[in-house]
Amino acid sequence: MIDEHDYHLDTLAVRAGQERSQYGEHAEALYLTSSFVADNAAQAAARFVGEEPGYIYSRFTNPTVSLFQTRLAALEGAEAAVATASGMSAILALCMGHLKAGDHIVASASLFGASIQLFNTWLGKFGVTVSYVSATDPAAWDAAVQAQTRLFFLETPSNPLTEVADIAAIAAIAHAHGALLAVDNCFCSPALQQPLSLGADLVIHSATKYIDGQGRVLGGAVVGSQALIEPIYLFLRTAGPTLSAFNAWVLLKGLETLGLRMKAHCANALLLAQWLETRPEVGRVYYPGLPSHPQHALAMRQQSGGGGIVSFELVGGKAAAWHLIDQVQLMSRTANLGDVKTTITHPYTTTHGRVTPAAKAAAGIGEGLVRISVGLEHIDDLKRDLLRGLPDAT
Ligand SMILES: *Cc1c(COP(=O)(O)O)cnc(C)c1O
Repeated sequence: MIDEHDYHLDTLAVRAGQERSQYGEHAEALYLTSSFVADNAAQAAARFVGEEPGYIYSRFTNPTVSLFQTRLAALEGAEAAVATASGMSAILALCMGHLKAGDHIVASASLFGASIQLFNTWLGKFGVTVSYVSATDPAAWDAAVQAQTRLFFLETPSNPLTEVADIAAIAAIAHAHGALLAVDNCFCSPALQQPLSLGADLVIHSATKYIDGQGRVLGGAVVGSQALIEPIYLFLRTAGPTLSAFNAWVLLKGLETLGLRMKAHCANALLLAQWLETRPEVGRVYYPGLPSHPQHALAMRQQSGGGGIVSFELVGGKAAAWHLIDQVQLMSRTANLGDVKTTITHPYTTTHGRVTPAAKAAAGIGEGLVRISVGLEHIDDLKRDLLRGLPDAT
């Protein structure tokens, strides 16, 4: 085991938490076993009541999953992490661990669609209420607080308009009211942004996105202090939406290249965003790394790069957006993101297809908006691909 305080993120990503079995394997071992055998009855009893460390059953935890948790916690600068079957089960487990009937959440309006569904439909059944506010207006968070507010929840940068929330300012408001701040760090990953260091209490990941980064598995995690992770772990231990050992092993491989990939995603996305800004067919370009972005200065303080997601408005509206999406040959027409392969989507009719037109208008999601998750293909090939569906309007 290495001391996580002595090493840089790139080193932790390949080494933190490393342990070897009696065989001395170099790569991380994959423990595909549902349960673990005790030496005797006394040891089994001690393990079940938690008097002796040791593995019991892979729903509670597993050495490969534990290693992924340790490594991810090190990357976020956290005491503890608990891995889950998907990003959504991470958010569910956080809520089950920390909320009760009657509690209130303040959340950013521009959340991932399934997070809104989870809060409104499923937590709503148990009497949890939610107020949605602008991610970019800390005063709105303060104004939305009620006596029963227990949790602040935000994503930054947001999907698809890349709005950047001021994590430190919103954390201070949450704490002044005795609430916890949870940040969905999916768009940045710990390679670009460490919300705990800015005052957040808990960090959520959809490991399906940049942490895997190669479109192979679903996974998720919640990261934070031991005390705040414990109730989330206890829910998962009972309810079971935990990460499989196989997926944990794949995600460990993803973490090894996370820093390199994020640098390359940021570099490609910046070049693409700068080029899009020069195109006559394109109206606004939304990318935190551009000086024209309304929260550019905040983004550059809070993140070590602009990220890999670029959205832009086509002057020609929906017809132009669909034409572009139909003409590309290299980019994948899929709503997934955070992958080495570039993906392109029309948020108005896909990720936000079931949101009412009025709500889309309020959120600023227009019919001409296109979102690209910029992958690691060569930038010239990406530009050429867009030119297939982006004839010069002048
Ligand atoms: C994809 C995503 C999730 C949900 O993650 P899954 O792994 O698909 O369950 C949550 N938040 C954000 C920002 C996402 O992009």
